[in-house]
Amino acid sequence: SAPVVSRRSQQIQAAAPFRMLFEFLRRRAAAEAEADDQGRGEHDLLDFTFGDPHELAMPAYVEALRSAAVPRDEQWFAYMQSEQAAQDAAAASLERVVPLGWTGDDLRMTTGGFGAITVAMKAVADPGDEVVYTLPPWFLYEILAVEAGLVPVKVPALQPGFDLDLDAIAAAITPRTRVVVVNTPNNPSGRVYPPAQLTALAAILEEASARNGRRIWIVSDEPYNRIVFDGKPFHSPTQFYRHTLLCYSYGKTLLAPGQRVGYLAVPPGLPEADTLMGAIDSLQVAGGWLFPNAVMQYAVPDLERLSIDIDALQSKRDRLVGALREMGYDVASPEGTFYLWPRSPVPDDEAFVASLARRGVLVMPGTLFETPGWFRICLTATPASIEAAIPHFRAAINEAKR
Ligand code: PLP
Repeated sequence: SAPVVSRRSQQIQAAAPFRMLFEFLRRRAAAEAEADDQGRGEHDLLDFTFGDPHELAMPAYVEALRSAAVPRDEQWFAYMQSEQAAQDAAAASLERVVPLGWTGDDLRMTTGGFGAITVAMKAVADPGDEVVYTLPPWFLYEILAVEAGLVPVKVPALQPGFDLDLDAIAAAITPRTRVVVVNTPNNPSGRVYPPAQLTALAAILEEASARNGRRIWIVSDEPYNRIVFDGKPFHSPTQFYRHTLLCYSYGKTLLAPGQRVGYLAVPPGLPEADTLMGAIDSLQVAGGWLFPNAVMQYAVPDLERLSIDIDALQSKRDRLVGALREMGYDVASPEGTFYLWPRSPVPDDEAFVASLARRGVLVMPGTLFETPGWFRICLTATPASIEAAIPHFRAAINEAKR
């Protein structure tokens, strides 16, 4: 008999990283239940998995939402597309991070980075087109691409530094290539790509676009572009390749990913900008009204003044990187984001992650990022959790070395 659900939904569910993510969540729930059975309670688990908050939100964040939720006129909660005041505030702030002369008209508010990425892909790529991205990737590119009917083409990063493998990217481009996704600062590697790599990538894409007779676009996924350490500069692909769609989310800088707001920006002066904005506006409606809620958009001017404490995050990075290295872990110090990406002490990262889970420490296996042999630690955990986890990281590597 005919299947109940559509082929596209089956393809999405079958996408390997997605399946593995659900399996991972199931195992995490089981670990929490087991901890409960042992009388430890799920709150005794030391959770370093997702970029979720582990402390109450910033009071100024709560106040911004509270204020935005008070209606000032009858139309306050009317249907709202992308709000000009939110766009203007977002553009002024983006200008400080990526100085290209942005105005509010160059961007549209979206339901976070997710919304921006899916609209960006659909705005420029047709079903059957190929989208190239680097491994290890954010594990949901695959389903966003599949949902858009696109074909993912995956290029492993250069190890051990996890730089873009420019030769491999050039070799992966075909006449069907329409999008290259670049994620800097990179989740999970923590790498911030330097100007030389972005310049070289731009040259490759200019040349390939000319050869194909069809523009290849960069989708620049940069939700962590304000989470960069040691005062290092951040460079956006938009500064090197004009045909770039910039995707941003407030979920990282404000550490409130459940409150959905972000934007999709088209670099100023792009000749195709008007056509693109028309496509973006239509896709936001057709995708199922992908605009952020009115309250989130009203709050954006206030939210733009806020950030998690980057110095405190950097201190957590330094504490844990230092401790892990001293124990014998092979781990780079991330230049940005809130993740560490150490090499698993044993080749089987899932077995190693399971050994940490038995000790009550939850991290994510590299296999989830299609890069076995590594694992990811999220630094949004509290300093106290990090201190509590350090002896367990030590016991786990000592056991692995035996
Ligand atoms: N891109 C990357 C690299 C991410 O790490 C995430 C979230 O983890 C997203 C996009 C999506 O961000 P949001 O959930 O805020 O839309």
